[in-house]
Amino acid sequence: MRKRIRLSPEEYIAGILAGNRVTLSRAITLIESNLEEDYQLAQAVIAGCMPHSGKSFRIGITGVPGAGKSTFIDAFGTSLAEEGKKVAILAIDPSSTVSGGSILGDKTRMANLAIHPNAYIRPSPASGSLGGVARKTRESMLLCEAAGFEVIIVETVGVGQSEISVRSMTDFFLLLMLPNAGDELQGIKKGIMEMADAVLINKADGVLLGKARTAKALYTNALRLFNPPESNWRVPVLMCSALEKNGIKEVWEMLESFQNFTKENHFWEKQRQAQALSWMHEHIRQRLETLFYQDEKVKIQLNELSQMVANQLISPVSAANQLLQNWKI
Ligand code: GDP
Repeated sequence: MRKRIRLSPEEYIAGILAGNRVTLSRAITLIESNLEEDYQLAQAVIAGCMPHSGKSFRIGITGVPGAGKSTFIDAFGTSLAEEGKKVAILAIDPSSTVSGGSILGDKTRMANLAIHPNAYIRPSPASGSLGGVARKTRESMLLCEAAGFEVIIVETVGVGQSEISVRSMTDFFLLLMLPNAGDELQGIKKGIMEMADAVLINKADGVLLGKARTAKALYTNALRLFNPPESNWRVPVLMCSALEKNGIKEVWEMLESFQNFTKENHFWEKQRQAQALSWMHEHIRQRLETLFYQDEKVKIQLNELSQMVANQLISPVSAANQLLQNWKI
């Protein structure tokens, strides 16, 4: 294994607060590590950064592969960066666990943004369960905020469970769609459409422009059938061409009006509070599980009891209860 340089928590914190990207990247590597000592160190760094976090606009973006997420984020992020905003891009890519490589957040896919001094792109953690990857992304987000990033974009592929994770850590959830609306919501489940704060039809250019307009009308109608969101925000359907960089500024204007609207009606802070609480509970669950399975006594007993369960000498529930009763944190 590659030898890693570890700093003291104070050194990480000072570096991050000073906006040092190398330190930020190293601290994120700690968060992504599965070693217990790294975990402890990462938690100390997060705790120190926490008072300086929370000030960004957290934007989740999803869409089927090929919808144009990378192209859009490249154009959108670059336009913000050029205005002087500091933009960080994180990704939740559960498929990378299977493929062994990240398909999202890859710097080569956001070529313009990757070289902009106001932008920071971090590829998805390459391994772990969705819950684990989601935790790592959330914690990385806090560090990016402490490092001064004002807009955090969390990207995911809209085909599985990961959108729910992204939804639960962002202020705004943007659903990127292709213009061929005829293809029955393009494999995007109705549930995902219901989570969206805006639908953005990409590739509204050239021969696809007509189709994009039809799709806009179709999605606008489809959205009317849903219950209004808790934010009372009217979910808009927009069109853009990430390739030709049309309609990109309008997306930011729309996001700003969402921010103003939900800050005024207090949904913004209400959602942040609810997210923080559910994050706490999720962390308790994950941490209990990790500590339980790491316990040496549990490991031995689990081995014995598993065989007994397999041979039907004890019920799964009694075996589980026995293990839990004997477990001391
Ligand atoms: P992702 O898988 O969602 O990240 O999609 P990509 O950004 O990789 O884009 C998939 C393909 O669609 C690429 O060949 C892009 O060049 C193309 N594409 C992306 N945005 C647009 C657009 O606005 N118009 C057109 N015509 N093509 C686009």
